[in-house]
Amino acid sequence: MKLLELLTQTPGVAGREERIREVIRKEMEASCDEVRSDALGNLIGLKKGSGQGKIMLAAHMDEIGFLVKYIDDKGFVRLQPVGGFDPRMLMGRRVIVHGKVDLIGNLSPSTKPVHILTEEEKKKQLQIKDFFVDLGLPHEQVKEKVEIGDPVSLRQEFARIGNNYSSKAMDDRAGVLVMLEAIKKIQQHRADIYMVATVQEEVGLRGALTSSFGIVPDLGIALDVTLAADYPGGEEPEYVTRLGEGVAIKIMDSASISDHNLVKRLREIARSENIKHQMEILPRGGTDAGSIQLSRTGIPVATLSVPCRYIHTVNEMVNRNDLEAAIDLLASFLNKTDPLDLNTGSI
Ligand SMILES: [Zn+2]
Repeated sequence: MKLLELLTQTPGVAGREERIREVIRKEMEASCDEVRSDALGNLIGLKKGSGQGKIMLAAHMDEIGFLVKYIDDKGFVRLQPVGGFDPRMLMGRRVIVHGKVDLIGNLSPSTKPVHILTEEEKKKQLQIKDFFVDLGLPHEQVKEKVEIGDPVSLRQEFARIGNNYSSKAMDDRAGVLVMLEAIKKIQQHRADIYMVATVQEEVGLRGALTSSFGIVPDLGIALDVTLAADYPGGEEPEYVTRLGEGVAIKIMDSASISDHNLVKRLREIARSENIKHQMEILPRGGTDAGSIQLSRTGIPVATLSVPCRYIHTVNEMVNRNDLEAAIDLLASFLNKTDPLDLNTGSI
C-alpha cells in the first residue's frame, strides 16, 4: 500500500492543501482525460464517458491540523486548530511546523511535569489553547523560519497493524485512495466522471460546495471514512460500523440523507457481486455529500464510507478488505450506472 502511505504522510492542513494536491494531481493525470484545479484549490479530474450524464465523486484531501497563532519571546509556538480535535489525544504528540522549512516539534500542554502536579491540578481538563510547540530553537531562529499562519500538521508514521493500516490523515486519504483506485478499474462507463479531491471539508464542507456548483453533476458520491466504534468503551448499538465488515453504504448523517434510490442501487450491486458491505447511520458528522446535495436546485447524493477506528487521532485505522470492498463497489457502480436512467430524487 505504497500509495496510501504516500497520501497519508503528505501534509495538507485545511486551506493549505498545495502539497497533497500535487501528489494527487500526478495520480489523476495518469487516469483522467483532463485535470484542473479551481479557485478554491479543489482538484478536478475528468474521465469522459460514452453517453450522457455526469457523476461527481468527492473525497476531501484536507486534514485536521493547526495554524501558527502566536510565537512567544522564548520561541514557543501557540496554535489555532483547523478542524475538530479531542485535546486528550494530543498529549505527547509530535508535529511538523511547515515554515520556510519543515521543522519538527514537540506538542506539550502548559502544565507542570506530572511529578510535581497536585491532585487538584491532575484533574484539570486540558484545552487546545493549553498546548504549545517546542521547536528546540531560540526565539530569533524560530522568528526567522516561522510566520503567523504557517500550517502545522500532526506527525505519525504509517504502519501496517495486523490486517489494518494505521496513520494520521487516514481521514480522508483513504477516501482519496478509493476514488483513485476505482477509476483505474472502470472500462465501459457511460457517464462523464468528475473526480474531485476537495479542499476545506474539515472546516465546513466548503470545497465540495463550489466544485459541485461548477460541475453541475446529475448525481454525487462522497467517499469518506466513518466511525467504527467497535472497540472497548463503545456500546454495540452505537458502533456505527465495524472494521472488517465491508464498505459502508450511508443512509444518513447530520449533513445529508442519501438519495433512497441511489442507496438501493448501491446495495443491489453489492449484493449481486458479493461485495462485503454494511449499512451506516451516523448520528453526528457529515461528508462532502452534504454540500453537493444542496448545490443549485439540489443533487441526489450518497456516501460510500470506509470504516475507521480512532477518527481524528493520529492512529486512524482502516481495514485492508474494507478498502478493497469500497473500491470494488464504486468501480461497479460507475461501470453500470447511467445517471440519466437512474430514478433518483423521486421516492
Ligand atoms: Zn473526512
